[in-house]
Amino acid sequence: MQEDIIVIGAGASGMMAAITAAVNGGQVLILEQLSQPGKKLYATGNGKCNYTNRYQEMECYRGEDRSFIERALGHFSCDDTLREFRRMGILPQERDGYYYPVSGQASSVVDALVRQLKLLGVKLHTEEHVHRIIPPENGQKGYQVRTDKRTYQARCVILAVGGKAAPVHGTRGDGYAMAKQLGLNVLTPLPALTSCVLKGDFAKEWAKIRVKGRVSLYNKAGELLAQDQGELQLVSYGLSGIPFFQVSRYAARALETGDKPYLLLDILPDYSMEEVGQELTRRREAFADYPAEQVLEGMVHKVLGRVLLKSLGMNPKTRVVEWSERDIQRIADRFKNWKTGIAEVSGFDFAQVTTGGVLTGQLDPDTMEVKDHPGLYMTGELLDVDGICGGYNLQWAWTSGYLAGRAAAGCVR
Ligand SMILES: Cc1cc2nc3c(=O)[nH]c(=O)nc-3n(C[C@H](O)[C@H](O)[C@H](O)COP(=O)(O)OP(=O)(O)OC[C@H]3O[C@@H](n4cnc5c(N)ncnc54)[C@H](O)[C@@H]3O)c2cc1C
Repeated sequence: MQEDIIVIGAGASGMMAAITAAVNGGQVLILEQLSQPGKKLYATGNGKCNYTNRYQEMECYRGEDRSFIERALGHFSCDDTLREFRRMGILPQERDGYYYPVSGQASSVVDALVRQLKLLGVKLHTEEHVHRIIPPENGQKGYQVRTDKRTYQARCVILAVGGKAAPVHGTRGDGYAMAKQLGLNVLTPLPALTSCVLKGDFAKEWAKIRVKGRVSLYNKAGELLAQDQGELQLVSYGLSGIPFFQVSRYAARALETGDKPYLLLDILPDYSMEEVGQELTRRREAFADYPAEQVLEGMVHKVLGRVLLKSLGMNPKTRVVEWSERDIQRIADRFKNWKTGIAEVSGFDFAQVTTGGVLTGQLDPDTMEVKDHPGLYMTGELLDVDGICGGYNLQWAWTSGYLAGRAAAGCVR
């Protein structure tokens, strides 16, 4: 029997695609390899699901072709997402532009999507692991979709299997292999929105400290690749927290291409270098007989002050009266430009999203249809589109799912 539309993957973009296709009159079957739909969604936004964001600037989305992303978002963006989810029963709650369900529970987003699938008569086959899509040959109509158990036939297929990030939620990168089998080009998928391991062993001593700071990522040639500011999480192996998450996709790509990227950390971003130098000079006079580590208290976290001094080869117990002008300059410079190499970006097990993927030039931005394979659509994280933290990755999943679902329903009509 031939299905109208098969959606592969019951994640964020797959469920949105299936709902939209069904609303527009398509008969839909979803094939999901896990025993339940939307497993990753439960974990989003720390269990609260940050499902979109009021500020839809293009700088919040990354990929080789941003005009593709902009065009797609022009069809379905934040307001459309809020409207669709309200229709499904989700009332929004906004915090600084970030939208969450008012219930405060990601599970209500999954429940709303699943309820909608049922109301619309969408069929869902779980524990169906798809490994191949075979395009029509010799004038045949439709695609074959092969799972470990059987072969399905469908007039249209929407591939919504996600990327490689957080494989514990079912995403192991199967979509890239299927895309390559279909002759599509894939930009090497790499982990993003993740932490990093720093070179050197000083991080061991600063473990479990949170400080406000700025992270600037440079390539070997000294060019600024990305920058962000906020709460840094200093962890035993390196650096975590939103500011590094935001620049991590550039660090991962630089390392992959053999570059040697490094970071400059500014742990007093609200003060200029000159102000920090003046403050240190003042403290040298005011607290002359006190040990350096104590004198830095009130400027920086106690432990971090000690690590900072040690990283300069200075004894934290030294009385500050002994600081030379050069010592003060070096300490001020460390506060503002703490240079550290990146050994590695933490892998897919720790990443929230994938950067890279199926290059979008091969798809139509209005429909997500693959240009060389009419009737085949691709959505979500599988594509070379990644967003910063803040609801942008789910917005991309809803946008691309919506467009694919609408177009597939139009195609079968
Ligand atoms: C911990 C965590 C927190 C996050 N928080 C947020 C957040 O708050 N806001 C935000 O915007 N983004 C967040 N994200 C990112 C966001 O969840 C993803 O970008 C988004 O879910 C991607 O949607 P998708 O449809 O492409 O793939 P997914 O939602 O990953 O779904 C893919 C589905 O396909 C299935 N599948 C895979 N391979 C096969 C196969 N071979 N056969 C059949 N089925 C298959 C999988 O089992 C899965 O159900 C978070 C991610 C993580 C890991």
